[in-house]
Amino acid sequence: MNTQKMQQPNEAIKCYVNHCHYYMNGDHCSATQIEVQNKHAKSSQETDCATFTPTQQA
Ligand code: SF4
Repeated sequence: MNTQKMQQPNEAIKCYVNHCHYYMNGDHCSATQIEVQNKHAKSSQETDCATFTPTQQA
């Protein structure tokens, strides 16, 4: 996937992962698209965002 970081939130996604590069204040995701794994999940706890990228440490 060729995911870009936008200047505005992706209104379709609510995310609390505030150490992600794509996280935006207000619990938003600013990625143009996300990928969710895993194929064999049987509950929401077994899914995760594969687009997650750790925030660069300053
Ligand atoms: S890429 Fe995934 S983990 Fe990162 S802010 Fe967006 S939804 Fe959250």
